[in-house]
Amino acid sequence: MHDIVILGGGSGGYATALRASQLGLSVVLIEQDKLGGTCLHRGCIPTKALLHAAEVADTAREGEAFGVHSTFNGIDMTKVNSYKDGVIGRLYKGLQGLVASRAITYVESYGRLVSPNTVEVNGERYDGRNVVLATGSYARSIPGLDIAGRVMTSDQALQLDYVPTSVIILGGGVIGVEFASVWRSFGVDVTVIEGLPTLVPAEDAAVSKAMERAFRKRGINFKTGVRFQSATQDDSGVNVTLETGETLRADLLLVAVGRGPRTEGLGYEEQGVAMDRGFVLTNERLATNVPGVFAVGDIVPGLQLAHRGFQQGIFVAEEIAGLAPLAIDETGIPRVTYSEPEIASIGYTEAQAKEKFGEIESYEYNLGGNGKSQILGTAGFIKLVRQKDGPVVGVHMIGSRVGELIGEAQLVYNWEASPEDVTPLIHAHPTQNEAFGEAFLALAGKPLHAHA
Ligand SMILES: Cc1cc2nc3c(=O)[nH]c(=O)nc-3n(C[C@H](O)[C@H](O)[C@H](O)COP(=O)(O)OP(=O)(O)OC[C@H]3O[C@@H](n4cnc5c(N)ncnc54)[C@H](O)[C@@H]3O)c2cc1C
Repeated sequence: MHDIVILGGGSGGYATALRASQLGLSVVLIEQDKLGGTCLHRGCIPTKALLHAAEVADTAREGEAFGVHSTFNGIDMTKVNSYKDGVIGRLYKGLQGLVASRAITYVESYGRLVSPNTVEVNGERYDGRNVVLATGSYARSIPGLDIAGRVMTSDQALQLDYVPTSVIILGGGVIGVEFASVWRSFGVDVTVIEGLPTLVPAEDAAVSKAMERAFRKRGINFKTGVRFQSATQDDSGVNVTLETGETLRADLLLVAVGRGPRTEGLGYEEQGVAMDRGFVLTNERLATNVPGVFAVGDIVPGLQLAHRGFQQGIFVAEEIAGLAPLAIDETGIPRVTYSEPEIASIGYTEAQAKEKFGEIESYEYNLGGNGKSQILGTAGFIKLVRQKDGPVVGVHMIGSRVGELIGEAQLVYNWEASPEDVTPLIHAHPTQNEAFGEAFLALAGKPLHAHA
């Protein structure tokens, strides 16, 4: 009998295993495919590598504006993919080494829950005092839209060995706008279709609006508040019909309408685990209704992000070890969209904060006043939302590279700091980070490089 048997070796599962082994627990980690899961092989890492290649393409294209002679001569997808795969390969090797160096029994095969404390793999049973379900998610489609040929999800889009001429992207959320951004930088004619009224609809309204402005400027077409009806494909392209009757045609259709939990047929229901539309239900301590069975990562309703999975994995390992860790505040999980421009946010949007706290104050510091942003030639802003005379409860940013600023934002939010707490702390000049300092100064009533 092991202390923990983990089903799924993605962000959530392997983080559980690493922390549990650190705590001296005996661990079995079962993964059917590749250690590292979606994030490393088909998600975070490959998309960010493509986005970096896209940034390099833009830099080449825009060199003249900085007095540097450069021309953009096109994209060699074979080389882009080998760069991307090189990054994945090095991280994969590192992760395999890390797991191998710990007291973790790693089993590379398909597993199934056959009793509340047993996972069966190829007829072999692994019993654990605790079982952690971490089987992750898959790219969803919509009823009647088959993923095949020119109709693809992010899984196939990440393997493309050519740059298409035109693409229609179904879904203007994080994954949709990241691909739109990459392809546009690669010279593709891109159209995003979003059923909700704005792009990146989960973000603060000011950010969504700024994103639309930026995409318009970049020549990325988008249609919001309009629903997809059907698609057909032939030898040379895909025809998409919208509910308005409008039809569009492109080389490819990328379906980026969200991710569903990978839980079907794995024995969870049979063992009495409470589920909702395929997601595994847990309490705030990530315990399911079945004693000794926990769940982490994308199968647990909430933000589907790798670092949420990491934190949940650490939490569950510590919980099982009896360390009584602090429950995770889901609102305190940072969110970054790595498109050009980037979006980074944490906490409540202005509208949510008004509803939750009543009286609030907000301030938008325009990156136009920030030296480093001027140097980079990026537009955007940092918006802070605070409870009246209280802590910062939301940070919302848009602009090139603002994803890197989320570190300070998450400390401020999670430490419940007020602008007055932060203003004595010094931000280096000239950095984009100092835009934070300016925003805090302004909210504390003493703006420096900004009008009152
Ligand atoms: C295109 C894309 C871009 C993304 N970008 C980001 C980003 O920039 N930042 C970010 O934070 N998140 C990003 N994500 C989300 C992130 O990848 C997920 O939140 C994260 O991978 C979830 O981790 P997980 O452990 O829950 O699941 P997964 O990573 O999906 O891992 C689950 C693992 O379980 C295994 N498994 C499933 N069933 C079984 C079984 N029966 N037996 C054995 N093994 C099994 C699977 O093979 C898989 O390896 C992105 C996702 C996508 C698709």
